[in-house]
Amino acid sequence: MIKFTDTAALLIKNSRRQFMAGTARIASLAMVLPAVMGGRTIFGAAMPDSVVKTGVSYFGSRDPRHLRQDMKDIAAHHCNFVVHTFSEADYYFYTKAMKEAVAVSHDMGLDVYLDPWGVGGVFGGEAFSRFVMENPEQCQRQADGSALPCACLNREAFRAFMKKWVDAAVDTGADCLFWDEPHFYIPRAVWRGAQRPDEWACTCEACRELFKRRFGYTMPKIMNGDIVLFRDESIVSFFAEMTGYAKGKGVKNALCVLPDENPLIGISSWEKLAAVPGVDIFGTDPYWIVFGKPVEDYVRTAAKKIAALSARYGKEPQMWVQAYGVPAGREKEVAQAVRVIADEGIRNIAAWSYRGGAPMNLASANPERVWEVLGKAYREVRS
Ligand SMILES: [Zn+2]
Repeated sequence: MIKFTDTAALLIKNSRRQFMAGTARIASLAMVLPAVMGGRTIFGAAMPDSVVKTGVSYFGSRDPRHLRQDMKDIAAHHCNFVVHTFSEADYYFYTKAMKEAVAVSHDMGLDVYLDPWGVGGVFGGEAFSRFVMENPEQCQRQADGSALPCACLNREAFRAFMKKWVDAAVDTGADCLFWDEPHFYIPRAVWRGAQRPDEWACTCEACRELFKRRFGYTMPKIMNGDIVLFRDESIVSFFAEMTGYAKGKGVKNALCVLPDENPLIGISSWEKLAAVPGVDIFGTDPYWIVFGKPVEDYVRTAAKKIAALSARYGKEPQMWVQAYGVPAGREKEVAQAVRVIADEGIRNIAAWSYRGGAPMNLASANPERVWEVLGKAYREVRS
């Protein structure tokens, strides 16, 4: 085992071409190893000494001049992968720039994940959806009858559009797709604990028909156990189809779930998504400052759960660190989160986002300080 680790660690320091050749060799070894590894892949949780992967999300410039500088800076902050957002605006207007962004990232020794940022209004991300504007009839409907600005996960038209998005993403040369926080519409009232019983989705025609076929009665207006099950199954079926399609195109799939197993905001059980065959990397984003939780406990609890589920289903566990919206004086918590994750044996750590979230309204109070703390923490866990 240690031999493979050393090989991979060495390869990742070398050029990307060499690294890819190395992973191909390791992958072929993995084919003969399942018997001794309990069926887990060589990149899975059963490899405690595998290469430590550290990354950050990026949604800054599309200008190649600035991109090159920023990717260099990301590599200098001890990252070996970058998550580029690939929104619908990128899909329609910036594919050439995105190809260049991927190539530049590779040049800097970074593996590349692409994120369907806000696509269809069903993934995390501060981007608007043209699909929603053009296809109101393919969008989710709330139980009270109101139209929602999110595509319906059960609609064939949306699944077909997502496959085109996958094609375009794969065409950029990216290594992995990052499926972020999949969900049905989340009413704002949920966060205040003030959700009305008829404030949930989706009750569109297609969903009502699927529900009736599955459960044998008309979809109710008030959420019940069958609705929770129906929503879970819809999300799982959507991702099984998307990740299977992407895998067939030769890229990996990373899936990130919302940090709470709450049927009102996401899926009722992470396990259902961890079990999806096309998912290679499985993780969550316990942003302790956003949710007002203590860093150590909140991050550790989530990390333990992700590690256990990933081990059970042969996935590589990944954890996200909050590196935006960090108040002044709390920057060291970013490093603390990285250490807790590494301490739980998770070797794939990502942070949202580059330079402490500097361009966002939700920027950290001292973005440069957050970036510096993150880079040092990454150096620590990589060494
Ligand atoms: Zn629907």
